[in-house]
Amino acid sequence: MTQQTERLAEADIRAILRAADELIATGGRTLLAKILKGSREKKLLQLELDHCPVYGYFKGTKLDDVLVKIDWMLDYELLDIQYSGKLPMIIFTERGWEIERDQRADEFLQEWNDWLAAGKQDPDMHYLKDRNRGMILLLLDKIKETGNPKYIPYLQEWEKIDYRKVRAAIRETIQALESDEPANLQAARERSASIQEALKGLEPRDVWLKCWVCGERFLFTAGEQHFFKQKGFVDPKRCPSCRGKRDDDIWLE
Ligand SMILES: [Zn+2]
Repeated sequence: MTQQTERLAEADIRAILRAADELIATGGRTLLAKILKGSREKKLLQLELDHCPVYGYFKGTKLDDVLVKIDWMLDYELLDIQYSGKLPMIIFTERGWEIERDQRADEFLQEWNDWLAAGKQDPDMHYLKDRNRGMILLLLDKIKETGNPKYIPYLQEWEKIDYRKVRAAIRETIQALESDEPANLQAARERSASIQEALKGLEPRDVWLKCWVCGERFLFTAGEQHFFKQKGFVDPKRCPSCRGKRDDDIWLE
């Protein structure tokens, strides 16, 4: 399996994270690649994954090459694989989620801007209920940071239908927008710096691990890590000699 040595562009990283958001913990790397490729496969259409804004983002790229890009995301710890039963599922790393949560909140805010520009009134806000709480609170922070009272009617609609904790945050946002105090943008600046850092990913490098059996240290190379991450395996616990002669014993860790 080829390894992508060249850094992925920021736009590509963002697109892959956005597509991953559609199937987090419910789909693997192949399904993720197919969303980005714009596959017309039945399963994908049934799940309405063709509605994803980055569906077909890598339309002109071969599926295998899209997979190489996804594996780069795994190597750089922007995505991870976790087993659900026997099925390897894509999950976000902390770094990957930090980026995705932020751009997803921006996407929701952009939608509000579009609705407001179109004069849409009293939208049904149930679509925001039961979303990831961290992302929702971030969306409210971003609304607060605009300092723009145009969002208040939508916030009031939303406040009617959400849970107590979110309602309190909505109320606080409305009050901030009603007040004349300038919005505090310090948090926004810190968030943006942190996201730029997260976008770099974590460059894979050889690491020394300690064998659980004999206590000797052994090298776990970047190349081996690439393979392990792709398969969703945890780091090996035993050194090569304790693992025995069979190479494929590494699978049984
Ligand atoms: Zn050992």
